[in-house]
Amino acid sequence: MPRREIKNQQKKIITHPERLLGSVLLASCICAIALLLVAETVQFYQSVDFYKLSLGLTTALTIGVASISFARYAANPNETVLFIGLAFLSHAFLDILQLFVISNYGMRFFAVEQYPVIYWSWFTAQLLWALLLLIAIIISYLRHRYGPNAYVRSSVIVIVTFVLTLAAALFFLLLDLPVPTMFIGPFQQPFDVLPGLLALVTLLAFYSTGDWRKSPFDFGLIIGLFWVFLAHVLFAAHSVALFDGYFYISHVMTNIGVLFVVIGMLKSMTRLMQDVESQEQQIEDRMQEIKREKALDDTFIESIGDAIVVTDSDTRITRVNKAFQSMTGWNEEEAVGQPVTKILPMLDSAGAAVPYEKRPQAKALFRGQKVETSMQSSYVRKDESHFTVSSTVTPILVDGEIIGAIEVFRDVSKEKLIDEQKSTFVSVASHQLRTPLTTLNWYTEMLLSGDAGKVNKKQKEFLQEIYQGSKRLVLLVNDLLNISRIESGRLTIAPEPTNLKSLITDAIIEVKPLLEGRSCVIKTKFPRTGMKDIALDPLVFRQVLHNLLTNAIRYSPKEKPSTIMISVARKRFAVKRDLASFLKPGNYIVVSVKDEGIGIPKTQQHRIFEKFFRADNALHAAADGSGLGLYFIKMIMEAAGGELWFTSAEKKGSTFFVAIPYSGMKKRIGEKPISSVATTAMISQEKEVR
Ligand code: ADP
Repeated sequence: MPRREIKNQQKKIITHPERLLGSVLLASCICAIALLLVAETVQFYQSVDFYKLSLGLTTALTIGVASISFARYAANPNETVLFIGLAFLSHAFLDILQLFVISNYGMRFFAVEQYPVIYWSWFTAQLLWALLLLIAIIISYLRHRYGPNAYVRSSVIVIVTFVLTLAAALFFLLLDLPVPTMFIGPFQQPFDVLPGLLALVTLLAFYSTGDWRKSPFDFGLIIGLFWVFLAHVLFAAHSVALFDGYFYISHVMTNIGVLFVVIGMLKSMTRLMQDVESQEQQIEDRMQEIKREKALDDTFIESIGDAIVVTDSDTRITRVNKAFQSMTGWNEEEAVGQPVTKILPMLDSAGAAVPYEKRPQAKALFRGQKVETSMQSSYVRKDESHFTVSSTVTPILVDGEIIGAIEVFRDVSKEKLIDEQKSTFVSVASHQLRTPLTTLNWYTEMLLSGDAGKVNKKQKEFLQEIYQGSKRLVLLVNDLLNISRIESGRLTIAPEPTNLKSLITDAIIEVKPLLEGRSCVIKTKFPRTGMKDIALDPLVFRQVLHNLLTNAIRYSPKEKPSTIMISVARKRFAVKRDLASFLKPGNYIVVSVKDEGIGIPKTQQHRIFEKFFRADNALHAAADGSGLGLYFIKMIMEAAGGELWFTSAEKKGSTFFVAIPYSGMKKRIGEKPISSVATTAMISQEKEVR
C-alpha cells in the first residue's frame, strides 16, 4: 500500500471516533485472548510482594485520576466530575486499606486470612467503583434531561460515597468471609463476574451519552471499563488459587484499564489547555479588532462638524464630540453622566422652556423612531446664550430594546434669521395682498351679480374663473398669515368652555358640500355618557377639524363607497408604550378622524408634518394641495398643549388623532387670532368641484 494511502487510512480512523473506539476494543480483545494463552501456559512467581507492587500501582493511578478530577471540579463545579473523582478516591482508599491489612503489621492487627481479604477487598473495591461511576453518569443524564432542577448537592454526593466506602471496608474486614468456591458453568469464581458486568453496564451508559466522541476522558473511561470487564469475566472469574496466572493477569488488566483513564484524562487536559490558549488568542485578536473599530469610530465622530450627544435610556449623557463641546461650552467631563436636560436646556420658539417629554430625545426614546426637528427650538449654552438648532435624534436599538439615543444637531441661527426675514416678508406681502384681493373679490362678485350691467354667458364663465382664483389666493394668504403668526409666536389661543359635539357637527356641515359627487359618508362616535364642555379655542379647533376632514375627503376614493369616522374618546396616557405617550402623562380628549383612502406611503410618513411636504400618492390624487395644512395644525396643537399624530397604511386608509388636555387648551396671548376658516371651506369646495 502506498504511504499516502496508509496515512489517509490512519487519518480516517482518528477523525472517526467510532472507528478508533472499535479498533481499540478489538485490540483489547485480541490482547485478552493472548493473555489467556499466557495465563494457561506460564507459571507466575507466586509472591505477595509482586502483588503488593501491582496494588500500589493501582493506588497511584486511581489517586492520580481522583486528584485531576478534583482539580477540574474546583475550576468548574459539576456533580458528575465530583462523583468520578470520589469513585476513584474510594477505590484508592480500599486498595490502601487492603495493602495495610495484608502487610505484616496489618495481618497481626486484624488477624484475618490473606486470601479472603485480598479476594473480597478487591471484589468490593471494583464493584463499588463501577457502581459509583454508574451513579455519576445517571446524575449527568438527569441533569441533561431536567436541567438545573435535577441538582444533587455535593455534600450529599460526598456523604453517599463515604458511607458506601465505609460499608465496603467493614464488609471485607469484619465479616471475614471465606473465598467462595463454587463452579457455575465455566466460572470458578462466579462472584467475580459481578463487578465485570457492572463495569459493562457503566461502560454502555457512558457510551450512550455520545460524549466520548468529543471527550478523550470519556473515551479513556470506556476503554478502561472494558478492560475491567475483561479482567473480571475472563480472568478473575477463572482464578482457582491466590496468585495464579489468572489472578495476576486480572490485576494487571485492571491497572491497564485505569491507565487508559489516566491517558484519557491527560489528553482531555491538554486539549482544554490548547482550547484556552486558542480562546485567549481569539480574545486578543478580537480586542485588537475592537480597538481598531473604536479608533475608527472615534475619529469618525470627532471629525463630524455637527454636534453629537449620546444619551442612555435615562437620558443621561454618555458621550459627546468636540463639535458639541465648542458649540455648547461644556467639556466632556462636565457633560458625561449628567441629564441632557440639565446640560442642554431647550427653549421653544417663544423662548419658553421645553419640558422633557416634548424634547426630541423623549419622543425618539418613547416612539423608538427617528425624530427630526428644524429651527423650532433653541439650546442654551453654558454661558446662558442660546442658538437655534436643527437636530436629528435616533434611538439606539439592541435586540429590539431601546438603550439610548444619539442626537446630531447644528447651530442654524443664521438660517433661522434668514427664515424669519423671509417670514416677515411673507407676512407683510400677505397683508398687502389681502386688501387688493378683497377688492378683487368684491368687484368680481358685483360684476357677476350684474351690478355693472348684464354680462353674457362667456363673460360670466370668465368672471367665475377670476372669482374662484382670487378666493383660492385668499385661502393661501390666510394659511401663510397663520403660519407666520404661529412661527413667530404672535398667534393667540383663547380657550373657552366649548361643546365639542356641536363643534364637530358644525365642522361636518361645513365640509358637507365637498362630499357631493363622492360615495363617501361621514359618521360620528361620541362617548355614551355624554361630554362636559371643554376649554378650547373654537376657532383653532374648527381649523384643525376642518383640515383633517377636508384631507380625509380629498384622499378618500371618489367612486368606491367609503366611510370617514370621527370618534371622540377620553384617554389616559401614562405608559411608555402608548402611541401618544410623548404627551405629558394625564387625561386627554382624543378626537380621531379615520378614512379609508389612499393612505400615506410608509417611507414618507416621517415627513408628513413638514412644511410644503406632500406624499407622492397625494400629488396624483389631488394636484392642488399646498402641504401647509398639517404643518400648521400640528404646530398649533403643540402650542395649545395637545398633540397631533397618525397611523396610516397605503391603499388602506389613515387615522389622524388630536389630543387635547382634559383640563383644556393652553392659553396663549398673541397679537392676532387665527384667520377664519369659513373662506377656506368655500374655496376647498370649489377646488373639489373643478
Ligand atoms: P395638502 O393636503 O394640501 O397636500 P396637508 O398639509 O393637509 O396638505 O397634508 C400634507 C400631506 O399629508 C398630503 O399632501 C398628503 O400626502 C398627506 N395626507 C394628509 N392627510 C391625508 C389623508 N387623510 N390620507 C392620505 N394622505 C394624507
